[in-house]
Amino acid sequence: MNLYDDITKLNGVGKQRAAALNKLGIFNIYDLLTFYPRTYLDFSQTYSIAQAPLDVYVSVKATVGSKPRVHIIRKGMTTYTFEVTDGANILDLVFFNNKYIANMLPVGKEFVFYGKINQLNPFYKSMTSPKFIEYNSSGMIEPVYPQTAQINSRQILKLVKTAFDSVDNIEDCLPEKLKNDYCLMSLKTALMNIHFPENQDSLSEAKRRMTFEELLTLQLGLSRLKIKSRQSTPNVLTNDLSGEFINSLPFTLTGAQKRAIRDCTQDMMSGFPMNRLLQGDVGSGKTAVAAALSYNAVKNGYQVAVMAPTEVLAQQHYNTFTLFFEKHNFNVSLLTGSVGAKQKREIKERTASGETDILIGTHAIIQKDVEFLSLGLAVTDEQHRFGVNQRNLLSKKGKNPHVLVMSATPIPRTLSLIIYGDLDISILDELPKGRKVTETYLVDTSKRERAYGYVKKHLIDGYQGYIVCPLVDLPEENDNEEQIAATELFKELENGFFKGFKLGLLYGKMKSEDKKDVMKKFSEDQIDLLISTTVIEVGVDVPNAVIMVIENADRYGLSQIHQLRGRVGRGDVKSTCILISDNADKESSERLKILTSTADGFKIADEDLRLRGPGDFIGSRQHGLPDIKSANLLSDGETVRETHLAAEKMLEKNPTLEGEEYELLKKRVNNMFAKGVTLN
Ligand code: ADP
Ligand code: MG
Repeated sequence: MNLYDDITKLNGVGKQRAAALNKLGIFNIYDLLTFYPRTYLDFSQTYSIAQAPLDVYVSVKATVGSKPRVHIIRKGMTTYTFEVTDGANILDLVFFNNKYIANMLPVGKEFVFYGKINQLNPFYKSMTSPKFIEYNSSGMIEPVYPQTAQINSRQILKLVKTAFDSVDNIEDCLPEKLKNDYCLMSLKTALMNIHFPENQDSLSEAKRRMTFEELLTLQLGLSRLKIKSRQSTPNVLTNDLSGEFINSLPFTLTGAQKRAIRDCTQDMMSGFPMNRLLQGDVGSGKTAVAAALSYNAVKNGYQVAVMAPTEVLAQQHYNTFTLFFEKHNFNVSLLTGSVGAKQKREIKERTASGETDILIGTHAIIQKDVEFLSLGLAVTDEQHRFGVNQRNLLSKKGKNPHVLVMSATPIPRTLSLIIYGDLDISILDELPKGRKVTETYLVDTSKRERAYGYVKKHLIDGYQGYIVCPLVDLPEENDNEEQIAATELFKELENGFFKGFKLGLLYGKMKSEDKKDVMKKFSEDQIDLLISTTVIEVGVDVPNAVIMVIENADRYGLSQIHQLRGRVGRGDVKSTCILISDNADKESSERLKILTSTADGFKIADEDLRLRGPGDFIGSRQHGLPDIKSANLLSDGETVRETHLAAEKMLEKNPTLEGEEYELLKKRVNNMFAKGVTLN
C-alpha cells in the first residue's frame, strides 16, 4: 500500500470509520501516521509498591496474585478486587462493573498498572480503575490520541498499527545529507517513535525530527513566496523626492523613520516590487513614513492605496493625509462602507480614471469594482487585522505594485520569521523626540473614584481623556456587551461624576456617521472625555488626550492594553494610564504589573507569547498559512532559527530545489500553500 492512499483502503476502515477519521482531519494514510498522540501514558518509569508516591499518577510493575473478589454493592454496581504483588508488598486493585476483567488479568502474569495509589491505613494500599499494559521490556509508553464520540484512542492506535504493517515504503522527503548534518531520524523511525516510543529520549528526538521537517518546509515555502514576488514591476520610481516632503513636515523625523523611508525608497527604485513590513511600536510614527512614500509614488506618476481595518482609522488617515498633502494639491479620497452610493460611484470613477492620487479606505477598497489606472503603492495599516489574502487582493489592483504593511504589534523574532517570513522588515525602534513614557498604574476598584478624580483634574486643566470600558463577565470580543457597558457607564458618568464636562461615547456598532461625528468632535476638543470600547485600540491620534482609564484590565492581552494606552502619550505632555482590575488572582495582577514597569512593546509581546501562546499574534494571518501541527512556536524557537538557516543555505545553493534528492521536499513545498494563498 502507498503512503498517500485513501484511508478507506486500510483494513478495518469502512464508511463510518472513514467519516469519523475525516472529522479528525485524517483522509489518507499519511494523515493517520502524522496524527499525533495528545499525550502518553508512561508505563516505563515504574515504582515499587512501597516507594510509589500516593495520590498522583504512577506506574507500578506487579504480578497478579489472586483471582478477583467480587462484591455486588448494589444493583448495577459490582466491584472486582485483585491482589497484585511486586514481591515485597501487596496492592489491591479495584475495578467496577467489568466482568471480563478476570480474563484480562490472569493470575501469575506481570503487568504495569497506571493510576493513583490510595492508602487507607498503614497496612492497606489500593488503586482504583488503573490502566494497565502487559509488561515487556520495550514499548512501555502508550500513546493517547484525541478521541471523539465516533472513535476512541485505542481504536486509532489499532489503525495506526495496521497502517505501519500495510504501507510498503514510508518515503522520506528530507535528503540524506541534511539528516546527517542535523542528526535527524528517518521519517519512518521518527513516526514509529512518535506512536510507539521506546523511551522519553527517543520520543523527543522523534518530535524534533517532525518539527524540523515541518518548519523547514514552511520556511522554504515562505522563501519561495518571497522569491516569486520578485517578478519585475513596471512601477519604478525614477526620482526620489522624499526629501521635499520631509522638509515640509512640521516635525523632524526620527533616525528610524528616515532609515525606513530610505529602505523603502531603495526597494521602489529597484525594478522589483517592494514587499516590506514596517513594524513600530504605537506612536513611533509609521503614518509619516507611509506618507513620505506616498508622496514619492504620486510625484512619480503612480496612484496609492491605503487600507485600514476600521472606519475610525481610515477616516483618521484620510484627515492626516489630506492635511499633509493639501499644499501639494494631491487628490485624496476616502472610500468606506458608509459612503453613500452616489459618492461611491464618483470615487470609483475618479480612481479608475487616475484622477484620484491616493485612495484611503477600509476593505471597501478591495471590492471587485474598485479599479485603479496605475496603482504603484499599496499600504496596509495594522496588518495583523487582515489575512494574507486581503493583502493580496489589494496588490492585485495594480501590476505588481509595491507593498508596505504596517504593524504596531511587536512580534517576537522567532514568530516573525514564520508569520512574516515572506517580507522584508524595517523596524521603527525610536520614538519621536520629546515623547514621554506613559506612566501606568494598576489599582483595584476601591480606587476607582480616586482614578476618576485624577481624570477630572486633567480635564479641568484643559486636557482630554479616555475611559475604555469594561467587558462585563462575558466571552471576549462580545461587541454588544461592550456596547451596553459603555453606554451605561456613559449615562452614569455624564450626569454623575463628570457632570458639567462634555462626554462622548464611541463603540464599534454605532452608525458610522455618528462615529465620525464623535471622533471629529473629540479631535477638535469639543469632547473632553471619551467613553469607548476597544474600537479606539488602533491608530486613533489625538495628542491633547493625556489620560486613560482602562476598566477590567485583566480581560485584555498585554499587547492589546499596550496598544490601547498608545492612544495617550502622543504629544509632549506626560501622560497617564490607569488600569483598574479587581481580579484578586495573583497571576493576573503579576501579568498586568509588567505594563507598569516597561514601555517596550517587544518585551510585552514576549510576555504575552509566554503567557497566552502564539494565537494572538498569528491571528487572521493564520488563514493563509498551513496549520502548524508539530511545532510549538513557544518552545521550539531554537528549531525555528535552525531551520531558517537550513532553508536559506539550501536555497542559496539550489534556488529551485532541482535534483532527485529534493524531489519529495519540493513537492511538499509546492503543495503547502495550496489551500489558502495564491502564489501569483
Ligand atoms: P503609529 O506608528 O502608532 O501609527 P502615528 O503615525 O500615528 O504613530 O504617529 C503618532 C503621532 O506622532 C502623530 O501625531 C504624528 O504626527 C506624530 N509624529 C510622527 N513622527 C513624528 C516625529 N518624527 N516627531 C514628532 N512627532 C511625530
Ligand atoms: Mg498607526
